[in-house]
Amino acid sequence: MADDYCWCGSRLVECARCDGKGWVYIGFFHGEENPCKTCNGTGKLCPKHGNNYS
Ligand SMILES: [Zn+2]
Ligand SMILES: [Zn+2]
Repeated sequence: MADDYCWCGSRLVECARCDGKGWVYIGFFHGEENPCKTCNGTGKLCPKHGNNYS
């Protein structure tokens, strides 16, 4: 997978909350998958601008 860059020139990093997957488990027994709100389901974040990189 190619590296992605923010409009500010920073290289996007993996979202720590979802481990770069773009979704997270919710629910007691990890039964449901939800898009990660931290990275907007992309799995990537700009170190400076978070998910506001496009
Ligand atoms: Zn940025
Ligand atoms: Zn995420």
